[in-house]
Amino acid sequence: MRIAGRPVTTAARQPIQLPYDGTPVATVFRASREQVEDAVAAARQAAAVMRELTLEERSAILRKASQRLSELREEMALAISSECGKPIKEARVEVERSAYTLLFSSEEAHRLHGEVIPMDASPAGKGRWAMTVREPLGVIAAITPFNFPLNLSMHKIGPAIAAGNAVVHKPASATPLSALKMASIFEECGLPPGALNVVTGSGGEIGDLLVQHDTVAMITFTGSPDVGIRIRNQAGLKRVTLELGNNSAVIIGEDADLDEAVPRCVTGSFAHSGQVCISIQRIFVHHTLRDQFLERFIDETHRLVIGHPHEPGTDISSLITVQEAERVESWIEEAVRAGARLVSGGDRNRATITPAVLADVPPHVRLCCREVFGPVVAVNSYQTLEEAIGCVNDSDYGLQAGIYTRDIRKAFLAARRVHVGGFMINEIPQYRVDQMPYGGVKLSGTGREGPRYAVEEMTEPKLICWKL
Ligand code: NAP
Repeated sequence: MRIAGRPVTTAARQPIQLPYDGTPVATVFRASREQVEDAVAAARQAAAVMRELTLEERSAILRKASQRLSELREEMALAISSECGKPIKEARVEVERSAYTLLFSSEEAHRLHGEVIPMDASPAGKGRWAMTVREPLGVIAAITPFNFPLNLSMHKIGPAIAAGNAVVHKPASATPLSALKMASIFEECGLPPGALNVVTGSGGEIGDLLVQHDTVAMITFTGSPDVGIRIRNQAGLKRVTLELGNNSAVIIGEDADLDEAVPRCVTGSFAHSGQVCISIQRIFVHHTLRDQFLERFIDETHRLVIGHPHEPGTDISSLITVQEAERVESWIEEAVRAGARLVSGGDRNRATITPAVLADVPPHVRLCCREVFGPVVAVNSYQTLEEAIGCVNDSDYGLQAGIYTRDIRKAFLAARRVHVGGFMINEIPQYRVDQMPYGGVKLSGTGREGPRYAVEEMTEPKLICWKL
């Protein structure tokens, strides 16, 4: 734990294990309720300092932190890979993306501005000038999930600093290591003590306290819909951003370029063993291409290397826990009982599941209609584009979706009709760069991330009116 720029210890400890084989990796301290209070108090004091930093001072801290993170790429990638079991090559990409997220945040600090309001457009506004300034909110609680432990944290902490706020960060219990290292990097780069506090502990034990705390002005949460809805219900008038789950779908048109689509869809379905909020879970293939697509998709899947996450060649490692792997296994069995064909993979060894491809999956089984968060994809065929769009929209979620087609009219028809936060044409729904607006509709959440959009959510426009 880090509170007010210092490491903090407690009697309660929590082991961190490599999810792949249970090897002990580290031990961290579990925050008590008193320590959450301390962290919030430290953030409240630091918020007064943060709001007075010039935009360039905030930007410079973020630029330095981005640079330092890049220098420590290997160390940070190893921490990520060890805590969440992500293959090391994907962990390196996460570190690179996190450095960009901080760089984009540092640029947003320079762009923080309000506007001049045309007051005398109203008769009663004659002789008045007014402007808005964007003010920080104060203390922001950032609660993050296990699957991208560094970059998703930077998507909250970077914009919060750019906007002049102080943060209490609660990383997922399984993955606190990169968050703790990052807090030290920020301190080294000049962030005032208390502007970033990291409380490690169980969300079930300390989450409610943080969410309901009077001093906390905003909760920015990434995680599952169940926890997100609980937070929303407890947050009262606090500002709340929720980045939640999805069961991403992609449409393969009859004219799709399969040389391009197949390998991208394999990556989009199985990267980090499907534990990505925009992982492809449902593929709808035009009926004329169905057999060809499936054959090529399975061939490509067989090329994936399964193994230890620290091995440089590994593509598939493990899920976060054995229990999660067992859950995914049971969802595959349920789909097969309901009539789906398991055409490849789906074998479990401890927390690892081989990439599972199912065909003809009934839409009502959990594998289709809930978020599976595992290395599993359902491939179904369709006759008309309208039918495919209907299938994509037949979901409680709406984060991102996509289509592969050479027909621009079909591409834009789908882009207009599919109800999601982001739609990809000739790209997989798992595509994300860190400066773009990112967020969902329906059960996928509310609000948008991407530093520019997050800074807007983390500031309040204040009107200043002057009677001449
Ligand atoms: P999770 O179980 O919802 O946990 C997320 C965070 O919430 C963790 O830090 C967790 O702490 C904490 N938490 C748990 N109970 C809480 C409570 N009552 N009050 C406050 N905080 C609480 O999610 P996860 O399993 O880590 O991550 C997977 C989920 O995240 C998936 O649904 C995925 O789609 C979603 N996700 C969404 C995005 C996006 O951008 N839309 C990105 C990545 C992941 P503990 O770990 O201590 O329980």
